[in-house]
Amino acid sequence: MENERAQRYRTRMQRKKEIIDAAIDRADRTQGLLLIHTGNGKGKSSAAFGMIARALGHGLRVGVAQFIKGRSDTGEEAFFRNQPQVTWHVLGEGYTWDTQNLERDIATAQRGWNIAQAMLRDPTMELIVLDELTYPLKFGWLDLPMILEDLKNRPVMQHVIITGRGAPGQLCELADTVTDMTDIKHAFRSGIQAQKGIDL
Ligand code: ATP
Ligand code: MG
Repeated sequence: MENERAQRYRTRMQRKKEIIDAAIDRADRTQGLLLIHTGNGKGKSSAAFGMIARALGHGLRVGVAQFIKGRSDTGEEAFFRNQPQVTWHVLGEGYTWDTQNLERDIATAQRGWNIAQAMLRDPTMELIVLDELTYPLKFGWLDLPMILEDLKNRPVMQHVIITGRGAPGQLCELADTVTDMTDIKHAFRSGIQAQKGIDL
């Protein structure tokens, strides 16, 4: 009886292994990937920072451009800025959140994109994180077709991770891996402040 169960288990696992091995054999290409982390749930930026740690473990060179509205002193910036293989830019500091000066916001976003673009044209940059890029896109401060072109024309082995809510469909179509973070629960809604090491 027990023997029969063990035998069935072995047969099932063998079959599973064959399927997985065949899938691994089919994935025979290597190339730079475009990844998108979108959705309303927590984890979009921190998953990207986790991949930076992975990449640094392999000695890769990493560039980060953060298109954020307000400036907050984050643990990730403090930590990764000290790594010799990391270049870190904060590009959204000039957004005129209060004065709503559209022309200035467009100019700030465009200036930010010029810096991102320079990294996307540099084949020595092996992983680039464009954190919260969807945000200036959503407000129409950056031109989506221009961004899609720059992403398509990047060096063939360069990996790019884009984070932010509401990633446009065309961006997701171009990407190789797209993850939608689902918001099931968030501590902030029960009145808990952003915590060091967890939220910033
Ligand atoms: P993280 O940086 O923690 O991975 P994120 O990049 O997915 O979060 P953002 O939209 O960039 O999310 O928001 C950044 C900040 O807002 C973080 O402090 C995060 O904890 C918090 N946050 C993320 N999702 C939610 C949510 N659904 N409700 C409230 N706060 C959130
Ligand atoms: Mg984020």
